Amino acid sequence: MKQCLSLIALSLAISLPALNVAARDADADQAPEFDAQALRAHIEFLADDLLEGRLTGTRGYDIAARYVASSLAAAGWLPAGDDGSWFQNLSTVEGKLVEDSAVMTLRTADGQDLPMVWQEDFLLGGSYADAETRIDAPVTFVGFGITAPDLGYDDYADLDVTGHVIAYFSGAPEDFPSDQRAYYSGRSKLENAARRGAIGTLSFSTRKSAEKRPWEDIVKAYESPGMRWLDADGNVQGLLPPIRGGATLSPAGLSKLLTGSGQTLEQFYDGAESGRPKSAPLPVELSLYRRSEQITRESHNVVGMLPGSDPALADQYVVLSGHLDHLGIGPEYDGDTNYNGAYDNATGIAVMLEVAKELARSTPRPARSILFLAVTGEEQGLLGSDYFANYPTVPRDKIVANVNLDMPIFANATTDIVAFGAEHSSLVEPATQAAEAIGLTLAPDPLPEEVIFIRSDQYSFVRQGIPAVYLMPGFSSVDPDSNEGSGLVDFLKNHYHKPSDETDLPFDAGAAERFTQLNYLLLRAVADDPRRPAWNAGDFFGDLFANPANPASSASPTGATSQSP
Ligand SMILES: [Zn+2]
Repeated sequence: MKQCLSLIALSLAISLPALNVAARDADADQAPEFDAQALRAHIEFLADDLLEGRLTGTRGYDIAARYVASSLAAAGWLPAGDDGSWFQNLSTVEGKLVEDSAVMTLRTADGQDLPMVWQEDFLLGGSYADAETRIDAPVTFVGFGITAPDLGYDDYADLDVTGHVIAYFSGAPEDFPSDQRAYYSGRSKLENAARRGAIGTLSFSTRKSAEKRPWEDIVKAYESPGMRWLDADGNVQGLLPPIRGGATLSPAGLSKLLTGSGQTLEQFYDGAESGRPKSAPLPVELSLYRRSEQITRESHNVVGMLPGSDPALADQYVVLSGHLDHLGIGPEYDGDTNYNGAYDNATGIAVMLEVAKELARSTPRPARSILFLAVTGEEQGLLGSDYFANYPTVPRDKIVANVNLDMPIFANATTDIVAFGAEHSSLVEPATQAAEAIGLTLAPDPLPEEVIFIRSDQYSFVRQGIPAVYLMPGFSSVDPDSNEGSGLVDFLKNHYHKPSDETDLPFDAGAAERFTQLNYLLLRAVADDPRRPAWNAGDFFGDLFANPANPASSASPTGATSQSP
């Protein structure tokens, strides 16, 4: 299958100049004009109430996938999924908590049982593998739960947590450089805990993140089903034995956990803010019980291909990706339960579709082949992209780069652009050129604490050693009355992962058109440059994932973080 596709790409590149679409001259520095009307048309379809929030495994998602496939076909692209179809199928399993089955109790040093109250003190999801989970174990506080030899930092120094439940702050110390802060905030934490023999986890927010994301929002977010993908043999991916389960604690739950520790909640928060919280066993034992059901569902990525025009480069691929799924029907906010996901990520898909249309019309078409990848299961932890990156429908070593799109906010026009990940590889050159070509400047990550680089689908490619970049509008508003980044900040605060992420939010047509041009130019520059994109020498992510000498670079397939845009 994999071999077939690359051969098709090669032969098409040579023999197929004429797709049934009007051709347009391509000039490397000049982007075609894009029309915000066309972007809006896609967004209004994909974010319509009829699609019921495009949850992975639902009819609403399947309709959205069919729409994307038809749009690609109309633009003159070729199917590049399983067996010559537009779709790459994958099986997912939902870990569903049996209602009212979660019980958690703390036993204090003096033998008292302290009941933890469901949803007031703690939350947990269902298991992906077990019908019943039972944990009885001592609890050890491990700071942020991070071991970062490159930074001389180890929350586990001198601690043995074998058979323990570990308790830790989410995130990473603020003084970590932003890449390391992102990496160590994510899944690496759980891998570290599993390596050390922990059997359960309790996580909680720092003071700052608790202020930013109220507990009520976390409670609602937990109603969205957790999922994993299954391999061909039906094995659940991303499990980390011996960890059997974990819970998230509210500030109230954390206060209870500190019983007998001699520390107040505020002192404990201060420790995290100092960047060097002091790890230590806590004088409590945890007992946790839950029952779970596992529900399997089929879903699919949409995969299309535009064959490259240069016979020497056409067997190499640049992947243009974005997630098509969102959160479905969920907990009510202001009388609305339909999570339309207009910005997250109908807008990213709309930009991809318009870029795809123009790429197919261009003459000559891009030198390398382009893969269009609309993925499922992003909201459940980058499932679709992780599956594709593990089982690509073209040879993986021929994928030279990934350009991802997720949740571009066009609330107002900006003079700058953020290229997440560009600083790690030679992709910074085409990103800079593309920005300059339309009069925008590249700005550094304005929200390092959001660790955005590891939170969307580009990270699935990065984990396979493939350089990736992910563009977002910047924070420098054209309008002097608009605050720095007010569009994105307002969105994150009021509409992110809520039913109000719908088509009536502010939308600046010019900003949307320029951003689409930018993605077109970037993709074109990466696809046309005869030099293959490369990680910078000594780059943190490049060394971690693309260096064959590093065990992490051959890590088994997994999902990524639990929290993703
Ligand atoms: Zn998203």
